[in-house]
Amino acid sequence: MTTIDIFDEIISCLQIQAEKHPRCAVSDEVLQEFFTPSGRPAAAPQPQRVSRPSSQDKPPAPFRNAQSAKHPQSSNPQQPRPIPVQAPMPQPSAPPVDVSNMQWRELWQTAMDCHRCPLCRDRNNVVFGEGNTNADLMFIGEGPGRDEDMQGRPFVGKAGQLLDKMIKAMQFTREEVYIANIIKCRPPNNRNPEPDEAAACLPYLERQIELVKPKAIVILGAVPLQYLFNQRGVTRIHGTWLNYKGIETMVTFHPAYLLRYPADKGKAWSDLQKVMEKFGKSYKKP
Ligand code: URA
Repeated sequence: MTTIDIFDEIISCLQIQAEKHPRCAVSDEVLQEFFTPSGRPAAAPQPQRVSRPSSQDKPPAPFRNAQSAKHPQSSNPQQPRPIPVQAPMPQPSAPPVDVSNMQWRELWQTAMDCHRCPLCRDRNNVVFGEGNTNADLMFIGEGPGRDEDMQGRPFVGKAGQLLDKMIKAMQFTREEVYIANIIKCRPPNNRNPEPDEAAACLPYLERQIELVKPKAIVILGAVPLQYLFNQRGVTRIHGTWLNYKGIETMVTFHPAYLLRYPADKGKAWSDLQKVMEKFGKSYKKP
């Protein structure tokens, strides 16, 4: 597909949207950012934030994740590189720690120390989640990719840059919302989490949702749909409200999918507008 084809698709997509939502002018910069194909210059990458644990009981910081990188890169080429040692196969904690009554600090520390599933072996960082712990709106993705694993923060790679644009287009800021994933450690080669991995990790997310108590949740793609609702078929279900333990939950496409299929950004924008309506926000012509 050529660049011209991609632009044609986006323009036709915008046209359909403009027909469906007459109030949606395409001239708004924020909205255009969301629809801008990834080939255009992206926002400057966030500085790396791999912080080292200065103490084991460092309090949870919503925008910071304090597990150290396992393989820090030496800047001195003379210095010998550490020989990677395969960690022993973790034994599942027996019995698994019950997190259901934990407050943020203890929950965070327990996740940092987690060995509930084999994904702990190869992680550089546990990606706990971040944002406003009293957020009205929560986004849930699938799990950390390479960038997230290196930085210990959710959605900081290319998909994260698109998620930032989606949040901005919805008239929220990233600091206002809470962002988490189904699993907290990166699966090898970014494959989808296996059911046992998701099952081991879900108690953390369930407790995070209970503590944040958002008014609405947006789930991004097939993995949270499968593991929170036991349903499949984002293309069929997107745009519908589901109920997660009394919290209205909108299903939409994962930003990584939208980067691959930008023609579906219009559908995602319609889904997000439904969420905006819940908060009394609407897209107005500038
Ligand atoms: N994709 C996800 O689902 N979550 C992240 O944190 C990053 C990419």
